[in-house]
Amino acid sequence: MQESGVTVWFTGLSGAGKTTICRDVEQKLREQGNKVEVLDGDIVRQNLTKGLGFSKEDRDENIRRIGFVAQLLTRNGVIVLVAAISPYRDIRNEVRQKIGNFIEVYVNTPLDVCEQRDVKGLYQKARSGEIKNFTGINDPYEPPTYPEVECKTDHENLDESVSKVLKAIFEVNNDTARLLTHAQVHCV
Ligand code: ADP
Repeated sequence: MQESGVTVWFTGLSGAGKTTICRDVEQKLREQGNKVEVLDGDIVRQNLTKGLGFSKEDRDENIRRIGFVAQLLTRNGVIVLVAAISPYRDIRNEVRQKIGNFIEVYVNTPLDVCEQRDVKGLYQKARSGEIKNFTGINDPYEPPTYPEVECKTDHENLDESVSKVLKAIFEVNNDTARLLTHAQVHCV
């Protein structure tokens, strides 16, 4: 069982595999008795950030609000899994600074693969002009500079991606446990 909370932030293009990897990680962590919460961009936009659009300003506000909730949960010992395109580097780094215990997972799937998958039919709509400001087509995506984990879903299968993420979570918890032990030793 986990020692402390952490936010695991999945970023990447639409259809990259964020939700798929995230849900599998969630299930495995729950099976081990951990406290887990998922903040999925598609769902969050229907409640917490309802009404926000896809301008840079609105996208940043979307991430800021998700980050705020993730911060509250993290400090209460929850493993928070965030799956959101989160295309802008600066706001991701801002959230990282605020939360502290933070793992960035870059779900790095090439645009052509995402477009071929077109899970929600959105790429087709973006190409036909029905959707504007679509990330990767006519809106920017800034990849993370130093992600803790990178999942290349066009080269690795789901199990491999999930294992990498779980390993990173366990490492964070071990580090925190070690720090706590160290602090206790020096307090006596
Ligand atoms: P996102 O949340 O990034 O928009 P989704 O998880 O909704 O993406 O969709 C990703 C799609 O890609 C799913 O249909 C999933 O089954 C498929 N897929 C194929 N290979 C992989 C993989 N290795 N990892 C994750 N998803 C994969």
